[in-house]
Amino acid sequence: MNSSVLVDLKKIVSEEHLLVDAPMKEYTTFKTGGPAAVLVNIYGLNELSAVVRLLKEKQVPYTLVGNGSNLLVSDKGYDGVVIRLRGSFDGFTAKGNVIESGAGATLSRLCSFAAQEGLSGLEFAYGIPGTVGGALVMNAGAYDGEIAGVVSSVTLMDPEGKIKTVSGKEMNFSYRDSLLKHEDYIAVAAEFTLTKGKIEDIQFKMQDFLGRRKSKQPLEYPSAGSTFKRPEGFFAGKLIEDAGLAGRFVGGACVSKKHCGFIVNDGGASSEDISNLMKIVQDEVFAKFGVMLEPEVIKLGNF
Ligand SMILES: Cc1cc2nc3c(=O)[nH]c(=O)nc-3n(C[C@H](O)[C@H](O)[C@H](O)COP(=O)(O)OP(=O)(O)OC[C@H]3O[C@@H](n4cnc5c(N)ncnc54)[C@H](O)[C@@H]3O)c2cc1C
Repeated sequence: MNSSVLVDLKKIVSEEHLLVDAPMKEYTTFKTGGPAAVLVNIYGLNELSAVVRLLKEKQVPYTLVGNGSNLLVSDKGYDGVVIRLRGSFDGFTAKGNVIESGAGATLSRLCSFAAQEGLSGLEFAYGIPGTVGGALVMNAGAYDGEIAGVVSSVTLMDPEGKIKTVSGKEMNFSYRDSLLKHEDYIAVAAEFTLTKGKIEDIQFKMQDFLGRRKSKQPLEYPSAGSTFKRPEGFFAGKLIEDAGLAGRFVGGACVSKKHCGFIVNDGGASSEDISNLMKIVQDEVFAKFGVMLEPEVIKLGNF
């Protein structure tokens, strides 16, 4: 990346919020991947707007990274700027049965806040290890809910650094998909419309879902959760298991025996190992059942 961009970035972002050659294995739950040319932690809207305008003007690629829990970053890294939302993007306010959350807040903190406020509807998201921003992009979901069911509006920043608010409907949510996967917007905040409930009932449901995750998912290993989307009429994990792929290794990447829908980093995996194992799983499931599994995990950089 052109060094003059770094000089310009330093005029907007204070030096301690900017990292050169940022090791992306420290910013993703797979714990793999090479360096991003630059990583910036952004603490406010004006700063974000100025950075986006600069990068657009200089034609430097950039991407948002939340908790990196759905990301596979190339071992060669990413020749662009990784933006993370911190500070003022990390808070919540509640008014009646509506919570406004910054896009950088984690879902777990948001769910705990909703529970304290006696607001129900977000229990399903407790234990999904992402941020609100990442969950809006992915239309994250589990058990009896998904983000689409509780989001009433989203505040976005466009590539010109301008803010606009869209309704939940305008987000075009569908299964693991939203407007944000197709358009160059940054989610900066969202409003969740919830229903009044009893704090104990909400907390009980959250703990129940968390318990189910712990018993069924290989949470002791780095992963990005379900590697593939659920194909219509099937379960990806069951197809993978029935194809005899449980425990299949490529380098340090392995199809979890505990939950075949998860590819895990069993220690020392590279992103290439994970990517190659994903291809083997897709090929073998297709050969056996005629179903082409579509990755849920998003790749960043060149593979
Ligand atoms: C153990 C485990 C369990 C999981 N269980 C579930 C589950 O039950 N259900 C489920 O749906 N998912 C699950 N996931 C996957 C993952 O947690 C979700 O997809 C989550 O919503 C991703 O959020 P993130 O902040 O980590 O996003 P990231 O992985 O950081 O980013 C995902 C995408 O969103 C983009 N992005 C991030 N923030 C913004 C923003 N503010 N504006 C615009 N774009 C942005 C990124 O550029 C990237 O393209 C699981 C993952 C793990 C590791």
